[in-house]
Amino acid sequence: MVKPRFTTKIFLSYIIIVLLISISFAVFSTITLKKYYIKNIEERLSINTTLVGELLHKKTPSLDRDIKKLGRKIGERITIIDKTGRVLADSEKDPYFMENHALRPEVRMALKEGVGKSIRFSRTLGVDMFYLAIPSGDGRVVRLSVPLTEIKTAIHGLRCMFLSVIFISCIFLLLVAFIISRTIGRPISSIAETAEDIARGDLKKRVNVSSEDEIGRLAISFNKMAEELGSRIDAITREKNLLETVLHGIADGVFVTDKNGKMILTNPGFERIFPRTVGRYYYEVIRNDEINFLIEKALNSGIQESKEVSLYLPDEKIFQIYAAPIRDKKEITGACTVMLDITNLKKLERMRIDFVANVSHELRTPLTAIQGAIETLKRGALKKQSATEFVDIIERQTTRLGSLINDLLDLSGIESKERKMEFEEIDARDMVQRVYANFKRTAKKKSQEFCLDLPEEPVILGADPEKIEQAIANLVDNAIKFTPDRGEVILSLNTSKERVRIEVKDTGPGIAPDDIPRIFERFYRVDKARSRKLGGTGLGLSIVKHIVEAHNGKVGVESQPGKGSKFIITLSRR
Ligand code: ADP
Repeated sequence: MVKPRFTTKIFLSYIIIVLLISISFAVFSTITLKKYYIKNIEERLSINTTLVGELLHKKTPSLDRDIKKLGRKIGERITIIDKTGRVLADSEKDPYFMENHALRPEVRMALKEGVGKSIRFSRTLGVDMFYLAIPSGDGRVVRLSVPLTEIKTAIHGLRCMFLSVIFISCIFLLLVAFIISRTIGRPISSIAETAEDIARGDLKKRVNVSSEDEIGRLAISFNKMAEELGSRIDAITREKNLLETVLHGIADGVFVTDKNGKMILTNPGFERIFPRTVGRYYYEVIRNDEINFLIEKALNSGIQESKEVSLYLPDEKIFQIYAAPIRDKKEITGACTVMLDITNLKKLERMRIDFVANVSHELRTPLTAIQGAIETLKRGALKKQSATEFVDIIERQTTRLGSLINDLLDLSGIESKERKMEFEEIDARDMVQRVYANFKRTAKKKSQEFCLDLPEEPVILGADPEKIEQAIANLVDNAIKFTPDRGEVILSLNTSKERVRIEVKDTGPGIAPDDIPRIFERFYRVDKARSRKLGGTGLGLSIVKHIVEAHNGKVGVESQPGKGSKFIITLSRR
């Protein structure tokens, strides 16, 4: 439905007011006019009736003729009725043909009360008539009547006048409505339209009204309000964007709940752990009593607390949880929870503790042996022939200590950012060949078949030659060390367009599937005693892994117990 415009409303209300006033004025004036007119007629008829009554007292031979003459003279109808109601004379009709008038209200009233009046429609004349009857004193009744046509004409004239007034008022009102629509309606419509546009989100819209009256002031205030609203929305949007950017930038999980515990905001860090949670309750999402207790505390008691919690997602992850209440003035309106993933940190901490323990243990073993040997020597064995045996022990253990310390230094050197790799363009074949040459004699001592497989073309590679050589040497050393006498060790270099593969294959004891993921850990040895006996420190593969990863490469192993092992270093050629 089309809503009426402001000016139409004004116009309609004016019309209603004019109509109401005109109609009530017309009604009242008609009633008053009628009353006044009838009173006038009444007075006139009353005088004339009295006069006619007096005339009756004179003896007249022909009453009816006289009455007709008199009636014409005064311009009123005169009727003389006897007390039985018979018409004795009438100024307009033949009394002989007239019916009995005893029941006429004015006649009955005149006989009863002295004066009788009535307004009725005369069927004889076809108009409303005013009748006035007075008894003449000798038992007869004089009745005078006039048609009420005059009053009808007067009332009709009055009505015409009022209709003209209403018509002229309407034209005048149309003019007023037009002026109002120009001066008030249009600016107000413009303000209304602009308000609608602003409500729809077009904050750039402004009202264009230049008048200096109240509407002009309203327009100026409106524009200022729109300006203010725009800048506030801009500020809120900026703050919201900033908050979103910060939240997106935080790698840890962050979520906000309202005071009822419903999730209202989450960041990608949290969504990675618990996807699609906005709108749900935190206790439905996080099924962990410790975390839920922290949030509950923040929401109910306003207490901010933090706790380390383990979650199984499904692998174990360790989080440091911080839950803090959000307050508006003093009231708690929600809670903000941050989940810091400290799994790696914890792992590192554990590794550090293990490492210190391992290093101490590894150092203590040879030291105890050295101390034991020195003690024995001091107790007199120095002079005996067995002294060389103890000096051998000291030498072996010192060598072991030396290689342990060397490995540790290598490891820390690769790990520390200070000693960066020195990358240069090298031919990988040279490196592999050097390692082969270095270990040839060791393999021969164990009667092992040590083979080298190299491509014919140079294999140019960007790498730290010293480090990569050390990594390959560690793998070859292990292969020769763990492969029994007369076994076979193959060192090969394969290339593709993108990659270089260095493989060390042996026919040694192989590695059990359970041990494979762990052999690159520091100090991890499948058979500790055997490794130690063979002079191993448990750090060789760990060093290989670090060197290869520092070159953005990968090291892997394919092995089955009893079927030998194949260690593969893959390096990118770029
Ligand atoms: P280690 O000083 O003991 O050689 P590494 O880190 O080099 O230490 O190796 C870790 C463990 O992995 C070894 O103790 C051994 O059990 C296993 N391993 C490494 N290379 C081989 C191989 N070629 N054949 C069988 N086992 C191996």
